[in-house]
Amino acid sequence: MEEDLGPGVKDTLCDTCAIQLDRVSQITDLTDRETELLNQPNRSVNANIPVRMDDGEIEVFSSFRVQYNNGRGPTKGGIRYHPGVDVSEVKELAFLMTLKCAVANIPFGGAKGGVQVDPDRLSAGELERLSREYVKAFYSDIGPRTDIPAPDVNTDGRIMAWMRDEYESISGHQAPGVITGKPVDFDGSEAREYATSLGGAVILDEFVAESKIQPKESKVAIQGFGNVGSNLAVFLNGRGYDIVAVSNAAGGIYDSSGINVSQLFDSYESSEDLFAFGSKRISNAELLTLDVDVLIPAAIEDQITMDNVEQVRANVILEMANGPTTPKGDEYLAANDVSVLPDILANAGGVTASYFEWVQNTTNEYWSEKRVRDKLTTHMQEAFADVQSRKSSSEHVGTWREAAYLDSIESVLQAERYRGNATE
Ligand code: GLU
Repeated sequence: MEEDLGPGVKDTLCDTCAIQLDRVSQITDLTDRETELLNQPNRSVNANIPVRMDDGEIEVFSSFRVQYNNGRGPTKGGIRYHPGVDVSEVKELAFLMTLKCAVANIPFGGAKGGVQVDPDRLSAGELERLSREYVKAFYSDIGPRTDIPAPDVNTDGRIMAWMRDEYESISGHQAPGVITGKPVDFDGSEAREYATSLGGAVILDEFVAESKIQPKESKVAIQGFGNVGSNLAVFLNGRGYDIVAVSNAAGGIYDSSGINVSQLFDSYESSEDLFAFGSKRISNAELLTLDVDVLIPAAIEDQITMDNVEQVRANVILEMANGPTTPKGDEYLAANDVSVLPDILANAGGVTASYFEWVQNTTNEYWSEKRVRDKLTTHMQEAFADVQSRKSSSEHVGTWREAAYLDSIESVLQAERYRGNATE
C-alpha cells in the first residue's frame, strides 16, 4: 500500500527525503534555497551496461550512480545489486548516505549506486563481467578524491576487488582508495567486515546506558541474517541479550527462551538454511510484531509501515537497514513513545570503517584490528553523544531521528555556506 505523504511531497522523486526534510524545516527555519539544495542530488548518472553471458548472448542491465551532495567531502556510498533497484531508490539511499557521513562526522559527502539484477542467477564469471562493466560505465564519475563506492546489498569484498582492479587497469596506476570494503589482504581494513554490526551494538550500548533496559533481561528480534544481522546477533548475545528470533528472505525462526547463537552459526554455515536449526518457523511479518524489547530491522527498506506498525510491540527499534521505517510508520512510533535509533546513526559503523580504510589506503600505513575497533567505538560513541545533545537541546526535537537529521543537515549546510552555495 502506498502511503499518503501529505501535500506537496507526493510528486517529488524522493518522497521519504522530502517528508523528512519537511519535518526538519518545521523545526529550524530552512530557507527555500537550503531546502532546494537538499532536495535534489548534485548528479545522477544512469547507464545501460551490456554484459556477455555464459551462453554467448548479451544482456543489458540498468545501472545507476547518484552523487547526492559533496559539500563535506568526496561522495561515498555502496553499490547494491538487486532486481528492484531504480533511480528513485538510489537517490533516497544517496541522500541517507549524505546525512550518515555527517552524523558520523567523517569528511565525506553521500552517494549510492545500484544495478538492476538478481545476482543469484549469475555465474561467477557473469558477476565479474558485470562488476567490471559497471566501473567502465562510471569510470569518469568515481575516484579516490571524487566518489568512493563500497559494498551494499548483495555486493561484497570480491566484487570490490574486481572493481578496484578494473579502475586501475583503465587509469594505469594503483588507486586502492577508489573503493572500500576490499578484502583485508587486498588493501582492505581489519574489522570492516563486521564494522556496521559493531557500530550498531555500540549505539545500542550508549542508548541502554541512559535507559532502564537491562541487556540480560531483554529479548531481541533481528530481521535479516546477512552480514549485518548475523554479526550483530553475536555482538548482542555477547552482551547478554536473548536473541529470540532471526530471519532471512525465506522467513524466520523463533525461540522465546533465546536462540543459541553459536550453534545457529554452525548449523547455518553447513546447511545455509535457517530452518535446518529446528526452532519454530515464523514469517518475516510475524518477526516484526513479536513481544520483544528490541526490534532490529537489518534487511531492506519499508518494513515497518502503517500496515503493521500498530502491532509492533518493541520499545526500542535499532534500524540497521537503510530506511526500514516509512515516514508514517515513524510518526506512529513517535506518538507511542517507541524509541527509534535511526539508520543514519545506527548503521553508520560501516561507512566509518570505510573511512578508516580510505585513510589507510591514502597514507599507506595499515592498522591493527584492535586499533580499528577502538577508533570505531570512540567514533560511534561521539556520534551518539552529538545526537543526544541535539535531542535534549530543544523541546521541538522529539525523536532520535529528528535530532540526527538536524545535526547532519546543519553540518551539510554549513559546508555549503562556506562554499558559497547557500546564503550565510
Ligand atoms: N553500504 C554501506 C552503507 O549503507 C556502507 C557504505 C560505505 O562504506 O561507503 O552505509
